[in-house]
Amino acid sequence: LQQAGMVTSVVTDPSNVTRVLIEEKPELILMDVYMEGCKGEELTALIRQQEAFVGIPIVYFSVEKNLEKQMAALQEGGDDFLTKPIKPEYLVTAVKTRASRVRQMRYFMERDSLTGLLNHTQLHSRLISEIDRARRIGGPLTYTMIDLDHFKLVNDEFGHMIGDHVLKTLSRLLIERLRKTDVLGRYGGEEFGIVLFNTNLENTLRVMNEIRESFSRIRYQGRGKDFFVTFSCGVADFPRFSTAELLMEAADKALYEAKHQGRNQVVPAP
Ligand code: GH3
Ligand code: MG
Ligand code: MG
Repeated sequence: LQQAGMVTSVVTDPSNVTRVLIEEKPELILMDVYMEGCKGEELTALIRQQEAFVGIPIVYFSVEKNLEKQMAALQEGGDDFLTKPIKPEYLVTAVKTRASRVRQMRYFMERDSLTGLLNHTQLHSRLISEIDRARRIGGPLTYTMIDLDHFKLVNDEFGHMIGDHVLKTLSRLLIERLRKTDVLGRYGGEEFGIVLFNTNLENTLRVMNEIRESFSRIRYQGRGKDFFVTFSCGVADFPRFSTAELLMEAADKALYEAKHQGRNQVVPAP
């Protein structure tokens, strides 16, 4: 599998399996049926008990040719059975096709369908993992919340289709202006969250102000009229705010302050 370009981890001690699943986020598990101290179907049942792992395909890879035993193993939550010995190219194809399905499904599960940005759940969990990384490596990080100004008026005056177009335009602008490694999510409605890794408060304010100005210059058309939209923004920085909850709360308060001060501005958490 490695020769075919795949990244693999081998787990020989069943008590390590949860840790490896969390750290490596595999797209597929190849499971032996007869292992020392544990049967494949028992380990499958254990994995399936954990909500986060319900969707990972588990394919048994075993010398077991007895169909009844194969079916029994599948009942614990396995998805398929491959029998050993197998030609390497068959194994590669079997794993590759399944893994690519998982990648497709994950993409749609993790993203917001209107904008293609990460959804609320993913944004939150990526914020947590980026904080972990910042703690380990020791770099700074910022969390930014964006909220469109008077967006209800845009919908009321020009309709929801035009409103959606504005949301997509902002998403595209953010994707264009930020780095590939930055975390971009739709927090909900007309609110967006951004995690900038290895960036301090000052730089974030500069970048967000540039984006804010570009965005405010984009001209839209609806019902025979031209109009412009602006956003307000609150920024909080790690390690000054040391957990995901504290960062989100501080960014939210700063955003509220930006609205209060007249909108179309970027405000840092005090
Ligand atoms: P403020 O400047 O205080 O943020 O005013 P606002 O009108 O933007 O704030 P409010 O929270 O009252 O309204 C948010 C609006 O965003 C309400 C809703 O119609 C609109 N909205 C939320 N999600 C979507 C969406 O997916 N598509 C469209 N077109 N509009 C949305
Ligand atoms: Mg809002
Ligand atoms: Mg708003």
